[in-house]
Amino acid sequence: MTDSLVVMANSKVSVRNAPADIQIMYAKHLPYYFRMQDKTGPILTDKQMHSLADKLRKGEKRYDPYPLCEKNGINPKQIRRGLICDDCDRLLERKNYKVWSCRTCIRDVKQAYEQGIKDWFMLIKDTISNKECREFLQLKDKYAANYILKKLPLKQIGRSTTTHYMWDYRTSPADMKPLK
Ligand SMILES: [Zn+2]
Repeated sequence: MTDSLVVMANSKVSVRNAPADIQIMYAKHLPYYFRMQDKTGPILTDKQMHSLADKLRKGEKRYDPYPLCEKNGINPKQIRRGLICDDCDRLLERKNYKVWSCRTCIRDVKQAYEQGIKDWFMLIKDTISNKECREFLQLKDKYAANYILKKLPLKQIGRSTTTHYMWDYRTSPADMKPLK
């Protein structure tokens, strides 16, 4: 390896009678020169690289922000109950089993319960009972809650009064789609 080097900035200049012990080079050739100086081999062998990739994959943690209240130290009791209008944040009123309406926006909202249940699973916990659904969405009776819970792709746990419905957080509640 050469310790000293004369670099010519102007490639149109040619050097005559240069001393034999001095290396002369044009600036445009410097990148190639430096690349050739790098004699260190790969830092990791292929095997080490695969092993490292494997360890990183195994140590990977899925992003799981739910339930948001628990993860963010919010008391679930502070969460507003009832179905809320997306546009004006006012409480919706139920017209029938399928339709709610907003008095302020003067519009009907279909399947408003879908967002309400998504909110529950995102905010509160991964299970909901008929009673919890009734209270959270401010529904008039257990039949209304039952209608809503059966419309969604939830896993039913237990029977009669102990029945709970569960959402698996491996899928975000935001992606929940009602059953056809
Ligand atoms: Zn509204």
